[in-house]
Amino acid sequence: MKPGVQDVRADAPDPLFEQLTAYAGRPAATASSGKDPVNAPMIRHWCEAMGDTSPAYRGPGAVAPPTMLQAWTMRGLSPGPEPDDGTGRSPAYDELLRLLDGAGYTSVVATDCEQEYLRPLRPGDLITYDSVIESVSPRKTTKLGTGYFVTTRMNVRANGEPAGTHRFRILKYRPVERPTHRKAPLRPRPVINRDNAGFWAGVAEHRLLIQRCTRCATLRFPWLPGCNACAGQEWDTVEASGEGTVFSHVVMHHPSFPAFDPSGEGGPYAVALVELVEGVRIVGNVVGLPYDKVRVGLPVRLEFQRMDPDLELPVFRASEGG
Ligand code: ZN
Repeated sequence: MKPGVQDVRADAPDPLFEQLTAYAGRPAATASSGKDPVNAPMIRHWCEAMGDTSPAYRGPGAVAPPTMLQAWTMRGLSPGPEPDDGTGRSPAYDELLRLLDGAGYTSVVATDCEQEYLRPLRPGDLITYDSVIESVSPRKTTKLGTGYFVTTRMNVRANGEPAGTHRFRILKYRPVERPTHRKAPLRPRPVINRDNAGFWAGVAEHRLLIQRCTRCATLRFPWLPGCNACAGQEWDTVEASGEGTVFSHVVMHHPSFPAFDPSGEGGPYAVALVELVEGVRIVGNVVGLPYDKVRVGLPVRLEFQRMDPDLELPVFRASEGG
């Protein structure tokens, strides 16, 4: 079926598969309608995002790019509180997923989709669709884990006429168990190249170096091969005094990344954009303060922290209690 996918003992009885396959042919969504008719603004935004400049999608007589088929049926990020908001999702699909969750196949990944186009869509077309659970595969083992491929087929109509089909396949799987005793993970290594080697040479000497254009004196950070202000290519450096303030920050809750969590418990951590007194901004960790005490405007001071034998990084210590 797919590279790296194997049947799990095709001859072994699989009562769950018998249960799952009974859902094939049942509706996944019925009598649903697109939130908006096919329209020129969505077509334009899509073409801009995709870099598609075909004249077929512009001006009078324009059609929608066929691959937008699914766009007209999407519920959006805020589907609304009412249970029946016209999207008509059937209980059968939820039931199928619950059955898989209950059997331990709790992870999901979208694997592929296939579309078939039966008629062009034009601005003004009203979209309706229904969706059916087309098939459930026998149990398969992939690199991600063992599970079942579930394929749904959406039939899309425009003004009541068949316009296309959209087949969508997911793998519901039980993740492969990873060995738990592994060496403490290391932070990702910086990519050092000709354009930024000077910065990392500075870090090695505990100096935070900012590039300065020798033509127009504009400071720049991160390091770049040329000046964004005057396009000059010659530069020297200024050493940052180390004083700065938190310009903005985010708190990372998920996904946790072990190398960023010395306690190994996957706790949240703050990532700050620090504005140095010289005027440029740099991303880094704020240390000496709990993540929830980091705030915009917090004064911080540069220091260098050894992360592991091969990596030292500039970090920012809060110079007041928050
Ligand atoms: Zn310049």
